[in-house]
Amino acid sequence: MLRHLFRSRRRLDTNELPDLTQPEGRFDFASSLDTKAAIDELSHVVRNNSEVVEIYLALGSLYRAQGEIERAIQIRNNIIVRPGLAPEFRARAYYELGRDFRRGGFLDRAENALRQAERLGGRTASLLLERARLAAQGNDYTQAAKLYAELEFPPAQAHYLVRQSQEERRNGNSSQSERTLRHALKAYSGSVEAWLERLIRLHDLDDAERFGKAMREALEQVPDHMRFAVLEGLMEHVRQWRTAALPSGVEESCDESAALESAPRGGLTDDELKREIIPVLDERQPDAMLSYYGAMILQAGGYGAVARAWLERALSLDPDFWLARLELFSLARRDQNLTPFFEEQLEFFINKARKVKRFVCKRCGLKRDTLFFVCPRCKSWHSITFRSSIDT
Ligand SMILES: [Zn+2]
Repeated sequence: MLRHLFRSRRRLDTNELPDLTQPEGRFDFASSLDTKAAIDELSHVVRNNSEVVEIYLALGSLYRAQGEIERAIQIRNNIIVRPGLAPEFRARAYYELGRDFRRGGFLDRAENALRQAERLGGRTASLLLERARLAAQGNDYTQAAKLYAELEFPPAQAHYLVRQSQEERRNGNSSQSERTLRHALKAYSGSVEAWLERLIRLHDLDDAERFGKAMREALEQVPDHMRFAVLEGLMEHVRQWRTAALPSGVEESCDESAALESAPRGGLTDDELKREIIPVLDERQPDAMLSYYGAMILQAGGYGAVARAWLERALSLDPDFWLARLELFSLARRDQNLTPFFEEQLEFFINKARKVKRFVCKRCGLKRDTLFFVCPRCKSWHSITFRSSIDT
């Protein structure tokens, strides 16, 4: 019926040839139809009929996906005001309306729409998930954690407990902040975010002994595929911490390091980091990724020769590990007698290559050069992987 509808519009509206590059019957939202009129027309065919309402709702979601929020909202409202519609459809329309409003950044209206959806359709999993995402978007981490707990999804629950704990710490409420962080680890002992936060705090406190213990525990508890994120996040924090410790005028300091500006400096030295981390990584060999991170820590501490051995091990375990190869190459060139010209060219290429995005979402393929715990594109949790091979 819908296909018929589109076809007849095409005939009525235009003498132009249909777009032959499109598969037959495909609805080209972007250009060839007067979409507003199509929506109006479609709204007349909506009856208390699950198939048609579903299609109509799906059309609204396509608009939302294209960023045409107003049109998506118009569709939901057309359904909601229709008399005699079964409550389950109205609930669905409110639910989608809530998602439209959230996408448009109207968080209060999203909240209201979802409340209506819950009243009509109950606390379904998809409703709870949407409410959890809304709470997270509005920085209500406590509420987000609660909702993910109700959804029985501890990785996200722990993630938002960590965010809550960070906020409590920023507000000077350190004992509550520690309690919340412990709660996060209790909710999910493999939480990379929670372990990372604990390690960062112990680093900042200059507590080498507890740091070493926490590192060992972290690498035991965090799932294998996420262990690199503990080391990556820690190294990034150490970089920021030290940048913030430099005299002012350093451009790169992000808001987090700016918040630390007034904190007394300290933190573990490169030697302490090496002493506490390297034995823990050594225990977990053979492992190409941990060898690579070990090499980075050794290199920072000035242990170039050992770093080379660790990089060589990483490459023997995974010959495609391009970043390990690059770092090995970078270390080895110091032994070469290069002309200044050659040295300059190499430096250029090495620095360029280091800027290649190292992380990729295994679900949707999004590439990033910084850590992410929820994929910014497909919203998958902990789907980040290290691109050890350059052709992935
Ligand atoms: Zn993704």
